[in-house]
Amino acid sequence: MDVAGLVYARSVTGVWRVTMKNEKTMKHNARVTGLMMAGVAVLLTAGCERPAPEPNTPAPIAPAAPAVAPLPAAPVIPTNPLKEAYFGEQHLHTAYSLDAYIGGARLMPSDAYRFAKGEEVDVGGIKLRLHAPLDWAAVTDHAEYIGEMYSTMTSGAPGYDNEQLKQLRDLKGYEERERWFLEYVQKPNRGTKPEHAPFFAGHETTVSGWKQIVAAAEQHYQPGKFTTIAAFEWSAAPGGANLHRNVFFRDMKVPERPMSYVDINREDGLWAWMADLEKQGMTVIAIPHNSNASKGMMFPAEDSSGKPLDRGYAEMRSRFEPLIEMMQVKGNSEVHRWFWAADEFANFENADSLGDYSGRDLKKFGKHNWVRWGLGKGLAYQKSLGVNPFHYGIVGGTDNHNGTPSNVEEDNFLAGSHGAADGTVELRRTGEVGGWLKGKDLNPGALTGVWAPQNTREAIFDGLKSRETFATSGPRIKVRFFGQSGASEPPADYRTLVERGYAQGVPMGGTLKAGSKGSPTFTVWAMKEADGANLDRIQIIKGWVDAKGEPQDRVFDVVWSGSRKPDAKGKIPAIGNTVDVTKATYTNTIGTGELIGTWTDPTFDPRQGAVYYVRVLLIPTPRWSTYDAVRAGVPLLPGVAATVQERAWTSPIWYTPAG
Ligand SMILES: [Zn+2]
Ligand SMILES: [Zn+2]
Repeated sequence: MDVAGLVYARSVTGVWRVTMKNEKTMKHNARVTGLMMAGVAVLLTAGCERPAPEPNTPAPIAPAAPAVAPLPAAPVIPTNPLKEAYFGEQHLHTAYSLDAYIGGARLMPSDAYRFAKGEEVDVGGIKLRLHAPLDWAAVTDHAEYIGEMYSTMTSGAPGYDNEQLKQLRDLKGYEERERWFLEYVQKPNRGTKPEHAPFFAGHETTVSGWKQIVAAAEQHYQPGKFTTIAAFEWSAAPGGANLHRNVFFRDMKVPERPMSYVDINREDGLWAWMADLEKQGMTVIAIPHNSNASKGMMFPAEDSSGKPLDRGYAEMRSRFEPLIEMMQVKGNSEVHRWFWAADEFANFENADSLGDYSGRDLKKFGKHNWVRWGLGKGLAYQKSLGVNPFHYGIVGGTDNHNGTPSNVEEDNFLAGSHGAADGTVELRRTGEVGGWLKGKDLNPGALTGVWAPQNTREAIFDGLKSRETFATSGPRIKVRFFGQSGASEPPADYRTLVERGYAQGVPMGGTLKAGSKGSPTFTVWAMKEADGANLDRIQIIKGWVDAKGEPQDRVFDVVWSGSRKPDAKGKIPAIGNTVDVTKATYTNTIGTGELIGTWTDPTFDPRQGAVYYVRVLLIPTPRWSTYDAVRAGVPLLPGVAATVQERAWTSPIWYTPAG
């Protein structure tokens, strides 16, 4: 936790790289230099006709060799002041998470980064590779058992010979592993006073495991090409209510060890620890996830001591938690169709069976589990406390426990997401991810897009922290969203939209202050993935609070493909469906590749706070379970949709009235 620990961790990382990686690094450098030389030669050849040297020209005098060879020039990192969308994810478990290890995960953090860069990996005998490499990733193993996993996986480490860990290494069959997990892991971790398992060999093991995790991030960082972020998960689940947070560091200044639910058991304690790290010169944020499984506790009315939320709580939460995860393998947390009947797109990966486990009865907690409700409720606190505790931008992740980040393509969900629990077609149809949900309700998870000027750790982290982010349910849809006070001409093209957006207003994640210019203007743009499905429409969702302080919302269609006209109720008709479920195919004969539009809020009231976010919908495509059925030659999976409308959600833009 102190800075001394950090310096030590860094120097160890450095030594390790020099001693272990020296040969590889040198070869790599030689190869890069060779490639650069080749590039220079090509440029010279292409750039000009060089006269042949005069035959009798004397050889030039070589300059005196410098005593020390000059350092190679730093690579030029591509930079775009108008920013690019960089796709990645920040919620991923490897063999360093005990639950993942039990499920059979043997990929290490370093393997996860290799996978993210486009390399093939083996997950339980299944060869997996992303359709396209990611731009960035962060591995977030459960802090609770990093030490225990170090003991388990490192011969000679403290605790390695513990009887229970010997058992763990030898467990055969899924049921045996499941029983071991419930006994030693789940039970001690679900109470309000969690404890370490009996095989914990002390904090030195956590320190050692964390060093390896951070070293993997350091090793795979390629500024300008691939970014890694040092991170972990703090996995609080009091009474089975999911309050998990993933924690991220801007650079390699990290604490000596991560904090777990055993060390700190409520979120306000976690923020106090983060504030302490800030004082030591670290930059750190946290991202909560699965509000859908929080038993109404993710957006609480009271703090952990039972006192109504106050300004201090709101300040800490908004300072350390700029983002929330909108979707992952265990469901979409935006809205649920049971509570948002007027939203015809709310029926999407609702993961109903979450409510069958750990007393998470979804109906009982109603709207309170969902991000759209939380965003609205934040406005009520903004009004009463002067600070919005739920000032959340939007990201997506997988929470995949196979060590395969952003393995989100519906046609590539070959190994499931939780090792032996959902690793076969049959288990995804009939099994469950123990303690969580039924296999059929899983989905491959979501992605995060970050708008940043370049692909470096600092730029990606700063994009996250400033909430210039969006989530997608998998496809690499790009989406922009700007707001400005008062009226504005519709932009002629994408470039104008972006330039004007930054010059005259705020991007996604920003706040519009009250002004005299009247209703704000919002501009939106979306583009489909190059070889992906077409776009259906772009919507803006507006949230506000009524006189009783209860969140309200309304969905507006802003721009849509084709010549569809609003019906009598103002709804744009459905796009149609080209999916052939017998072949798991679709065609882009409906929809469009790119949409751009402008919208002014017809219900704007300058005295009322509001939150606006964008939802982009694609045309229907086959769900993963349909690809599974066609590949395996079995009937379509009953009780779930055969097709889905994949989507993207942007971080909101807030409007704050004069106050
Ligand atoms: Zn886990
Ligand atoms: Zn997780």
